Amino acid sequence: MNSSRNLKIVLSGGGLVGSLLAILLGKKGYSVEVYEKREDIRASHSSAGRSINLALANRGIAPLIRAGVMEEVEKIILPMRGRIIHDVVGGVNFQAYGQKPEEVIYSVSRSDLNRLLMTAAESTGNVTYIFEAEVTEVNLEGRTFHYKSPNGKAQQVEYDLLIGTDGAGSEVRRAVLSQKGSELNSELLDHSYKELLIKSGPDRSFLLDPKALHIWPRGEYMMIALPNPDGSFTATMFLPRTGPVSFEALNNEARVDDFFTEVFPDMKNLVPDLVTSFLKNPLGGLGTVKCYPWSYEGSALLMGDAAHAIVPFHGQGMNCGFEDCAAFDELLEKEPVQTESDLKALLLKFQNLRKPNSDAIADLALDNYIEMRSKVIDPRFLIKKKMEFELENLFPEVFIPRYSRVMFQHTPYKDAKYFGEVQEEILEQLYDDYVKDQKIPVQKAQQLVQAKLQN
Ligand SMILES: Cc1cc2nc3c(=O)[nH]c(=O)nc-3n(C[C@H](O)[C@H](O)[C@H](O)COP(=O)(O)OP(=O)(O)OC[C@H]3O[C@@H](n4cnc5c(N)ncnc54)[C@H](O)[C@@H]3O)c2cc1C
Repeated sequence: MNSSRNLKIVLSGGGLVGSLLAILLGKKGYSVEVYEKREDIRASHSSAGRSINLALANRGIAPLIRAGVMEEVEKIILPMRGRIIHDVVGGVNFQAYGQKPEEVIYSVSRSDLNRLLMTAAESTGNVTYIFEAEVTEVNLEGRTFHYKSPNGKAQQVEYDLLIGTDGAGSEVRRAVLSQKGSELNSELLDHSYKELLIKSGPDRSFLLDPKALHIWPRGEYMMIALPNPDGSFTATMFLPRTGPVSFEALNNEARVDDFFTEVFPDMKNLVPDLVTSFLKNPLGGLGTVKCYPWSYEGSALLMGDAAHAIVPFHGQGMNCGFEDCAAFDELLEKEPVQTESDLKALLLKFQNLRKPNSDAIADLALDNYIEMRSKVIDPRFLIKKKMEFELENLFPEVFIPRYSRVMFQHTPYKDAKYFGEVQEEILEQLYDDYVKDQKIPVQKAQQLVQAKLQN
C-alpha cells in the first residue's frame, strides 16, 4: 500500500455527501478524484431531478463547521422555528419545534448547497471532479472500475480506496454486497412524492410564513412546504401510490381539481397552474435501504444514502450522511493508517460506529411519517407535546424530547431512539394525572425519571 497520504482515493458520486467528504479529505492532504454521473450543476440550473430543498439540522451543521464551510452556508439557509399546521378550511396553527431560541432547523436548496460544497472541495487544491462519468463494473478484487462518459467509451480507473457516495441506487453497494454473507434489506414505501412550486408574491415576498415548515396533515397522506430564499416555497405531496386516494387515481384534470378543492383548497391560490403542474411533475419513489457490510477489505467503503437510504420524514438523510463524513474524518485523525490492515480496521470501525445509528434513524424516520400526517392534529399527541416541554423544564439535561434529541442535539441516533421510547412510557404513565389536574404530578414524574432515565 502507498503511504497513507499517497493513497489514491476515489469517490463514486459527487452529491451532498461525496462533496462534503471530498472537502474533508482534500483538507487533510489526500488526493481525491470524484466521478459524478451528472453534468456539472454549477454550469446549469438543474436540481438534478431530486427534492429541491432540504431541512438542515444541528447534526448536519457540525460537519459543515468542521469542513470550514458553514460561514458560506449561512448565506443560503432560512431558519424554521416550528411547524405551521394547515387544516382543511384554511385555518393555521403554529407548533414550536423546541423551547429554546437556538432550537431551529434550516431550509436549504439542495443544488445551491451541492454547488457550494463542490467549489469548496476543488479549492482545497487536492480534489478533482470528473463529470458525466458514470461508475460501472466495479471490480473490488482488482481495485478497478469503469466509467461511462458521454462519448460512450468505457474507461478503466485504478484506485487504492473507493468510497461509494453514489446514493440510494449505489453501484458500489452492489459490488460490496456481492461478498459472501452480505445482507440487503431494501423496502420501497407504498407512498411516493411529487413537488409543486408555491409562487412568491410581489417583490419576492413570501405568501406563507417563511419561518416555519408548513404541513397539511390529512391522516393517510400529507403535503409539506419549505421556504426558498427567492420568496417561493417548494411543496411536496406525499400520497399512496395506488388505492382510492393515490397518485394512480389522480390521473386526470377533473379528479385532480376536485381533490385539491376538497382537501387542499388553499393550494389553488398558491400554486400557478396547479392541476397541470400536478399532472406533469415527476413522481419520486421513497424507501429504506439497510445493508451489511459497508466495506470491502481495506479498499472500499459505503457512505451516505449508498449505505443507508431512509425515508425523508425526519429530515435526516443528508444530516446523517454529513455525520458519516465527520465520523470518518475523526477516525482518520485518531487512527494512524500506515498499513493496509490499519485501513481495513478503520473501515470496519466506521461501519460498526455508524450502522446502529443509521438503522435507528431509518426506523425513526418511518415513525415520523405517521406523526406528521396524522398525529400533529391528534389531541392526545398535542397534550403529550406540552407535557414533554414541561418535563424538560423540570428535568433539564435528563428529559429531552425525542424530536429535540434528533434535530437539535448530537446524541447518537440509537440513543435518541432508546430514550424516546423510555420517555414515551413515562408520558403514558403521567398522562391521566396530567389531564385530570392540568399539571405534571411532580413527585411521580421524579420517581419515573429517576428510575427510567437516570440509571
Ligand atoms: C423528497 C425528499 C426529501 C428529503 N428531505 C430531506 C431533508 O429535509 N433533510 C435531510 O437531511 N435529508 C433529506 N432527504 C434525504 C437526502 O436527499 C439524502 O439523504 C441525501 O441527498 C444523500 O446524499 P448522498 O450524497 O448520499 O446521495 P445523493 O444526494 O443521491 O447523491 C449521489 C450522487 O451520486 C451520483 N451517482 C449516482 N450513481 C452514480 C454512478 N454510478 N456513478 C457516478 N455518480 C453516481 C448522483 O448523480 C448524485 O450526484 C430527502 C430526500 C427526499 C427524496
